[in-house]
Amino acid sequence: MHMTSKLAKLGLFDAMVPRYTSYPTAPQFKSDIGGGQMENWIRAIPQGSQISLYLHIPFCRRLCWFCACRTQGTQTLSPVQGYLDTLIQEVEMLGQLLPSGVTLSRMHWGGGTPTLLSPDMIANLAGAVSDVAPLAPNAEFSVEVDPNEIDSARVQALAKAGMNRASIGVQDFDPEVQTTIGRIQGFEITRDAAEMLRAAGITSLNADILYGLPHQDETKIAASVQKLLTLNPDRVALYGYAHVPWMARRQSMIPSDALPAPERRLNLFETAARLFDWDGYTQIGIDHFAAPHDSLAIAARAGCLRRNFQGYTDDPADVLIGLGASAISRFPQGYTQNASATSDYAKAVQSGRFAAARGHAFAGEDLLRARIIEALMCDFDVRFDDIAQRFPDHVRRLAELLQSAADQFGEMVQLTETGLRIRPEGRPLTRIIARFFDAYDMSGAGHASAI
Ligand code: SF4
Repeated sequence: MHMTSKLAKLGLFDAMVPRYTSYPTAPQFKSDIGGGQMENWIRAIPQGSQISLYLHIPFCRRLCWFCACRTQGTQTLSPVQGYLDTLIQEVEMLGQLLPSGVTLSRMHWGGGTPTLLSPDMIANLAGAVSDVAPLAPNAEFSVEVDPNEIDSARVQALAKAGMNRASIGVQDFDPEVQTTIGRIQGFEITRDAAEMLRAAGITSLNADILYGLPHQDETKIAASVQKLLTLNPDRVALYGYAHVPWMARRQSMIPSDALPAPERRLNLFETAARLFDWDGYTQIGIDHFAAPHDSLAIAARAGCLRRNFQGYTDDPADVLIGLGASAISRFPQGYTQNASATSDYAKAVQSGRFAAARGHAFAGEDLLRARIIEALMCDFDVRFDDIAQRFPDHVRRLAELLQSAADQFGEMVQLTETGLRIRPEGRPLTRIIARFFDAYDMSGAGHASAI
């Protein structure tokens, strides 16, 4: 049977599956976990430890049709200032609970458009964080940069605050694709932003590019990737566009008959992936590509790649605290997620409570299954020795689970005495294979297509 038919038979072209940036995934979180639980878990962080921090800025100057982020359009900074005051209050509440000596191994500002903040706002937010938990030596401070919404003053303010990695949204450079997805961003403006960032000493640049966009074909994506490669990004995320207009209403502006079919999406991914490979980039997990010197490539070679809400990371911290509306935190005990609506979020924080509105406390086989899924998503490989070291009582259970997966996925995986490995030809199925180990997700509802 042709490889495409084999992949189709295993559901690649019609399954809706999670991206597994957490396990259980966010749709499984329940409202029995709230701010009180978050407080307890923050108090349990060991003194002097390193943690990660995520700050969410849910505002944009424009609302792009393709984007499923929960964000508000604004032409002025006044709603942003109100939100920022609340966010700083939440940072200070965190400071009152954090044990002494905690520093940040990673900090990420995402959104929305964090670069919408004025230089003063950037300095105030970074100062508030630094008073509570300063950046550790060699910390990574990354910010999502919209090339249409950045200038020298804001770059200087971010650099002064310690930003050392920038993540630039590209999507696709083709004008027809850009018009159809409601985001116009010429190559020149992207190139100028990259040059401005590098001139300010921010030498680590990530870029996000999408496959599966309307009117995209192999020629267009190849042209976009080649243009992107002239900017020498250190790291690229090649995400599949998820068309979910029932969840993200703006996407109904995008004509669904202009979207490539699932089989075509696989070709688009492979076309782009080949170009990154030819340019010396290493594929990291299912959808990232990194230059050999990049910290993700180094972590992948060392076998210590991890997965969190921002995708792939080499961050060793066990605690990631997310602040801001809808932000998710991960603790060794479980997850919490802040209220999504900015009004609900602000109401909680302004009355002195953490805004966590849902979450999940780990129980039963959660951590075992979470590790299996993370290992598959990062390394395409689950090893008995890794699991035995982390969960010595679960090795027999692991053997049962891996045998069932081998029965289900046949020649796409290889089961040996060292563990289960996804063969190269089976890698497009990684998220489907990961879902096999998911004891919660049976519906596929609300997830994106498997390719
Ligand atoms: S792509 Fe960026 S700028 Fe556009 S709506 Fe989404 S977060 Fe805002």
